[in-house]
Amino acid sequence: MRIRVGQGVDVHQLTEGRDLWLGGVKIPHTKGALGHSDADVLIHAICDALLGAAGLKDIGYHFPDTSNEFKGIDSKILLERVVALLDARGWKVNNVDASLILEQPKIKPHVDEMVKTLSAIMQVEQDAVSIKATTNEKMGYVGREEGVLAFASALIIGN
Ligand code: MG
Repeated sequence: MRIRVGQGVDVHQLTEGRDLWLGGVKIPHTKGALGHSDADVLIHAICDALLGAAGLKDIGYHFPDTSNEFKGIDSKILLERVVALLDARGWKVNNVDASLILEQPKIKPHVDEMVKTLSAIMQVEQDAVSIKATTNEKMGYVGREEGVLAFASALIIGN
């Protein structure tokens, strides 16, 4: 059995007039993340962790932000495609552990739905997807609510 680990990081600006998508869930908030896709920073970090584990470069390589095909795209579709890329090479997701860093809003009420959504796409049990959140203690661009940051680690297993 082959085992690989990967890590991913993503950052998006927060701005008024955009929806806030995190972990595949639309979160009620006064600001949303700016980006070419729906700018779901958590899914993007998870995609990069999975791609990194499989040695398949990164999300920008597979889904360039210069392509109209990905303009406004639901990041759940990007994660589905990443899982398919791994599957085609004999890799399955074992587990994902991710952290969100943002000042507002509180993420706790939405974590269960995120886990349910993401575990279904990655075809793993819900306890194989961990989503944690913390603030940046009001420091820096995250603290000023100008941006949101996500980190993810992933373990994949192959035959
Ligand atoms: Mg991104």
